[in-house]
Amino acid sequence: MTTEPLRDDDPMRLSGATWCDEHDRWECARPSKRSGVRCHGNAIRGMATCRMHAGRSSAMAKAIGEANLAAWSSSARSADVPSLDPGTVVLDQLRVAVMRADLYGEMLRWQLEVEEESGLVGATYAVGRDGGGRVETGERARGLAVLEAAERDRVVRFAKTAHDMGIAERHVELEQERASLVTSAFRAALAVLELLPADRDLAVRTFLGKLGAGDVVVAGEVTSA
Ligand SMILES: [Zn+2]
Ligand SMILES: [Zn+2]
Repeated sequence: MTTEPLRDDDPMRLSGATWCDEHDRWECARPSKRSGVRCHGNAIRGMATCRMHAGRSSAMAKAIGEANLAAWSSSARSADVPSLDPGTVVLDQLRVAVMRADLYGEMLRWQLEVEEESGLVGATYAVGRDGGGRVETGERARGLAVLEAAERDRVVRFAKTAHDMGIAERHVELEQERASLVTSAFRAALAVLELLPADRDLAVRTFLGKLGAGDVVVAGEVTSA
């Protein structure tokens, strides 16, 4: 498999890890204590170091790396933001995960409503008005359920990581509550518009895309954020 470390959009470029030509992968940037030469351990995704040199538990380091990658893939990123404060990044991505989970859950409810109202369960349903993709309704609902569950998992993972980093429990809860307030307000605004399902989905996908956590995937469609 060919990796292209010099591609501008490889987020690992921002991690501080070192590209190793010898082993063809991103590696730990720290020197090995014994030999003094650079440690050739595999870098944790999103981090500058290997597991041994992370200075934290593996689970915590992986979660921070995951949050870093999500932050770097954000459309709102500036040109060089290699050293983000880990606590800030984790809380930022916790809020994003809450909002994404809330909205995927909302889209799932809408989808189930549409299927129920139209008796379309299991039938093919045109998603887009303008020749957009057609997907099996059951498949679309399943896809949304999977996405919501994945984001709920991230919420749990990031909340635990924030807690393990010493961030106060109440503070972590408040961040989640704030994120839910934003999605509630957005959903209320959408509700008064009484949009067509396709337009409503577009509004939500645009909102999700602007949260800056990478591509928004809905049941096989990929919308670049
Ligand atoms: Zn190496
Ligand atoms: Zn190392």
